[in-house]
Amino acid sequence: MSSTITHDVVNPATEEVVTTIDLVGLPETDAAIARAVEVGPQWRAVNPADRGMLLRRFADVVETHTEELARLEVANAGHTISNARWEAGNVVGVLRYYAAAPERLFGRQIPVAGGLDVTFKEPLGVVSVIVPWNFPMPIAGWGMAPALAAGNTVVLKPAELTPLTAVRLGELALEAGIPDGVLTVLPGKGSVVGERFVSHPDVRKVCFTGSTAVGQGIMRKAADQLKRVTLELGGKSANIVFADADLDTAAASAPMSFLDNAGQDCCARSRILVQRSVFDSFMERFERAVKGVVVGDPGDEATQMGPLVSSGQRDSVRGFVDEAGDGGRATVDVAFRGSAPEGPGWWYPPTVVLPSGPQDRVWQEEVFGPVVAVMAFDDEEDAVRKANDTAYGLSGSIWTRDLGRAIRVARGVEAGNLSVNSHSSVRYSTPFGGFKASGIGRELGPDALDAFTEVKNVFLSTEA
Ligand code: NAD
Repeated sequence: MSSTITHDVVNPATEEVVTTIDLVGLPETDAAIARAVEVGPQWRAVNPADRGMLLRRFADVVETHTEELARLEVANAGHTISNARWEAGNVVGVLRYYAAAPERLFGRQIPVAGGLDVTFKEPLGVVSVIVPWNFPMPIAGWGMAPALAAGNTVVLKPAELTPLTAVRLGELALEAGIPDGVLTVLPGKGSVVGERFVSHPDVRKVCFTGSTAVGQGIMRKAADQLKRVTLELGGKSANIVFADADLDTAAASAPMSFLDNAGQDCCARSRILVQRSVFDSFMERFERAVKGVVVGDPGDEATQMGPLVSSGQRDSVRGFVDEAGDGGRATVDVAFRGSAPEGPGWWYPPTVVLPSGPQDRVWQEEVFGPVVAVMAFDDEEDAVRKANDTAYGLSGSIWTRDLGRAIRVARGVEAGNLSVNSHSSVRYSTPFGGFKASGIGRELGPDALDAFTEVKNVFLSTEA
């Protein structure tokens, strides 16, 4: 029996309904998992070169639909058109990167007495990928590309708010010749489809990106079946600016380190730590830079920041700044704001706040909006201590001209992805993931295949 629950996909910049989609329910989820089990042996038997070729063909088909996918994301998620094109391109890149993997899924030959000992990297079986709404295309790609390359079949659930590009990617996979059932996209609720991925015994792994609270629940339930999990969760990353840094570049680049994707970025540098001796001169430059950020129609080529994804997300962001939320703990002092359009759309202006102390909610919790908190520090030790004073550990930036300090601080900050004199975090060719409450496991890079395979050891006797 087919589910009749529907979801209105709303354009965050206009509040207009873009389309209405049918959400899948439990019967469709179970059927997709059963199909993924059924076609598993066929997919893992595709010879490595051909599996790689199919993934390259998938990448080529996605590439020819870049503009269509990007426009869908502008309408569905309010992403700026330049970001959305990059995101579609990221799917192409990650598919091409892992298209090389089937032919390089090396085991080892280990010296032992009496025979030959070799290891194999075997696929897990059915892998589920659960995607959040903030980067619907890249995060779908980071899960499905290495999982498919390693010979797994995949069921993938986009977030309720942002299903359109993932559904389209599922169609493009079929168009590219990926066999039916090898990758199935299931738009549905987390409480229905997502939970079924976790509870279904035939799903061997949950690759989850989303909030820390949901991730913790998934890990608890996955323990019942010893199901493998990768968790990519929240962040509260620090941008640390030392007095010896190139202050002009540090200040000019700081706005987009927390405003990209309207701050709805797990890697957002939502805390800035500035060495006390240059605090005022940094803030002057930073204010000019924040006020220069173009906020508006995400479909416009010149726009740097669009709206928030939903009215609920805007309420949540407001609660950190504009209300005495959290029992009055949100006593933040707004230093300055950028601009945002009036009228329909879930707009919120770039906002820079000065917390009263490290206990402030805006300093401790993930805002997931265009809000940054700035605080001074005294010396290197104080900077590292303040940067680490958070439950999270996903990314961060260090601005200094002193190479030794850059390395010391990078080693001292408890986070999975750090950049020196830049704000880059995620490249599909390098490992990505979090320390502490930011997650468990790593995605991307050369080792991601390990997260989608089991090592099998085989000994062949030469004595018989
Ligand atoms: P969310 O946890 O609410 O939802 C994420 C996904 O999980 C959605 O598809 C949702 O439907 C599904 N889900 C919800 N409840 C579920 C359940 N009980 N069982 C299984 N699945 C369930 O997160 P969100 O609001 O969509 O995304 C924002 C969060 O994601 C932020 O905290 C952000 O930092 C985090 N994030 C982390 C990374 C990273 O790589 N570390 C990247 C992007 C986003």
